[in-house]
Amino acid sequence: MTSPSPQLSDGQPAGAGRYAPSPSGDLHLGNLRTAVIAWLLARDSGRQFRMRVDDLDTARARPGVAQRQLADLAAIGIDWDGDILWQSQRFDAYAAATAQLTQRGLVYECYCSRREIAEAPRAPHSPPGSYPGTCRDLPESIREQRRAALGNGRTPALRLRAEVTELTITDQVHGDCTGVVDDVVLRRGDGVWAYNLAVVVDDAAQGVDQVVRGEDLLSSTPRQAYLADLLGVARPEYAHVPLAVNAAGERLAKRDGAVTLADLAEEGTTTRSAVARIVASLGGPDGADSIESLRGVVTPESLRSGPWVFD
Ligand code: GLU
Repeated sequence: MTSPSPQLSDGQPAGAGRYAPSPSGDLHLGNLRTAVIAWLLARDSGRQFRMRVDDLDTARARPGVAQRQLADLAAIGIDWDGDILWQSQRFDAYAAATAQLTQRGLVYECYCSRREIAEAPRAPHSPPGSYPGTCRDLPESIREQRRAALGNGRTPALRLRAEVTELTITDQVHGDCTGVVDDVVLRRGDGVWAYNLAVVVDDAAQGVDQVVRGEDLLSSTPRQAYLADLLGVARPEYAHVPLAVNAAGERLAKRDGAVTLADLAEEGTTTRSAVARIVASLGGPDGADSIESLRGVVTPESLRSGPWVFD
């Protein structure tokens, strides 16, 4: 059961922030720090805080990883409201959203392999990395041939027929950002639902109106905002948080040594001292080792100072 929404003073139900790990491995301190920021910006604005596990690709799911991520989040003091939403349980909702778009003529089948996409001729000025539109306007006779040629249990991918090529979103850390909107994949050829669709459907389902996440996802945001507009759900507010980097300025990763709570514990570093590092990196009170000590301290403006250098 989902807990009842708290009410704001004007009687409107509070919205929600969220954190949504992909269960690909243990969270490192940079990921945990982003989760803390998401939790703070939600709680400090009177919102609920929701948790979601982004386990769309069930074939690649590794048992126990999500449970360890959730345990680490709880261990550093993050709490959340209501049930955890598991994307692996949500395929009917993604199918329903896709059906809604299909009915409006906004979905088409795509038979392209990665290589065909990379090698396809592109219109001049088409944005780098965008889908070149190969399958967008194929006649049905060709579609039948291409469907038959897929083989290997593959189905056609489903793509959105986008009617714009770019969109501007407002980000609380980065300001106005204009980015590419192309014919995004809604369902991959191997049947896996696409991240961009799932995020929009799930944020709406969880009442999320504040998306705080790593800066690496900023470039996908115009596509997600466009999908939200098409599906008739309000765009959430966005804050994309600078990432943690190593001394060489590269994204923090396993190669950087003890970066997860488990690695740190093996070296004799307690969870409390790991939290103290996160607190210090966010300008918390000297020596504080609880995320509560950061209440009221972190704002989107305070995050503009750039990446957290972890060494
Ligand atoms: N699951 C995604 C990740 O871990 C984040 C998705 C999101 O926050 O929208 O990178």
